[in-house]
Amino acid sequence: AKKQGKNRFYWFEPQMENELRFRNELEAGIRRGIAAGEFRPYYEQQIDIETGELVGFEMLARWESPEMGVVGPDIFIPIAEEIGVISEMSEALIAQAFEDAKQWDSDLSLSVNISPIQMRDPWFAQKLLKLLVRHNFPANRLDIEITESCLHENVGMVRTMISSLRNQGVRVSLDDFGTGYSSLSQLRSLPFDRLKIDRAFIAELKQEEHGAKLVDAILTMSDGLNLPVTAEGIENELVLETLKRMGKMKGQGYHYGRPEPAELVLERLARQNLL
Ligand code: C2E
Ligand code: CA
Ligand code: CA
Ligand code: CA
Repeated sequence: AKKQGKNRFYWFEPQMENELRFRNELEAGIRRGIAAGEFRPYYEQQIDIETGELVGFEMLARWESPEMGVVGPDIFIPIAEEIGVISEMSEALIAQAFEDAKQWDSDLSLSVNISPIQMRDPWFAQKLLKLLVRHNFPANRLDIEITESCLHENVGMVRTMISSLRNQGVRVSLDDFGTGYSSLSQLRSLPFDRLKIDRAFIAELKQEEHGAKLVDAILTMSDGLNLPVTAEGIENELVLETLKRMGKMKGQGYHYGRPEPAELVLERLARQNLL
């Protein structure tokens, strides 16, 4: 009977066992990394595509892991969300970003990504406003980016949160626009300041005709909603020129530069007289 029981529960393939072990190590590494300050803000330039002028930076988290090197957020953010450490991690990153951005020209904005999990916390807005005060960072330089998946949760609460942040001067952008399922009426009823067109759509511009129609449709919609847009994932001159012809907007992407750590941002700003 014992043997039978053992057989019954021995269902892990060796590969699954390895994956499980890797996953456990990742989790432990993330917890250790938070304590050790291994999560660092990197920054991607945001540009007025018409003038080419630098208008701000989006903070993108990186894990500088002693074992694995620089790890991207697509790996660790979902795990941090699952194991309940996303708010703690994000607060530390945003605090660091405030300190970094205080050294930049005061006309430059700072965008940060907020997880839907963080938006579930009814005290999120208050916490963020307190963080601004503690670091003496002007609310009107901050732009938070939230995704459409926040809107499935508790639209009433999200609306209240957005309003209290905007009342203090924080701007709120809808990130990854076009990839989710938010209805037009929902969009109209929520007080966003800006739409960020997901890079999946911008990438389509490389295949011209069809891609341009999609982006055009999105621009028509944002126009109707009276919302300015940011195009993310501009990878080359051709895409940039196509977008320039389509309208006024902000842009970001590898064409302008890869996300870089604070030290390199400072060097960049020194060259451009923006410190
Ligand atoms: P996102 O907000 O859509 O950020 C844009 C992603 O596209 C970034 O990936 C950026 O490095 C990448 N990217 C920028 N330009 C180009 C381009 O021209 N071509 C291509 N192929 N990619 C480009 P990254 O840094 O790996 O971030 C992935 C996602 O992780 C972000 O997507 C964001 O949703 C999330 N994320 C990053 N930092 C944080 C954070 O601190 N908190 C939370 N909750 N999420 C974060
Ligand atoms: Ca200035
Ligand atoms: Ca974003
Ligand atoms: Ca995106």
